[in-house]
Amino acid sequence: MVTRVHEHVGSIDCPNPDCKKDTPVKKTGTGKLSIKCRWCEFENYATPGTPHFKNIMSRLRPAPAGSVDPDDGALPKPTPTPTPTPTPAPLVTRKYAHER
Ligand SMILES: [Zn+2]
Repeated sequence: MVTRVHEHVGSIDCPNPDCKKDTPVKKTGTGKLSIKCRWCEFENYATPGTPHFKNIMSRLRPAPAGSVDPDDGALPKPTPTPTPTPTPAPLVTRKYAHER
């Protein structure tokens, strides 16, 4: 089983000028920053040491301590619902159908 290594480090405004919504930034297992906008599907990686990386870090709003990855826990998980007992379909009364 692969352990999830992405660490939520904060958020930036989406680099897509048509979007600019709050986009979570994660650090991957290799130290790269992973930006994935859930609104416009913008996706980008930044390698440490590159100007792009520094640019993102300068715009990063650090996640508050103890915050959880929005994809991993902030949203309520759907609680598994027990399989509903199938209710018998109501009988269709066709008693008077022939009288129409
Ligand atoms: Zn976006």
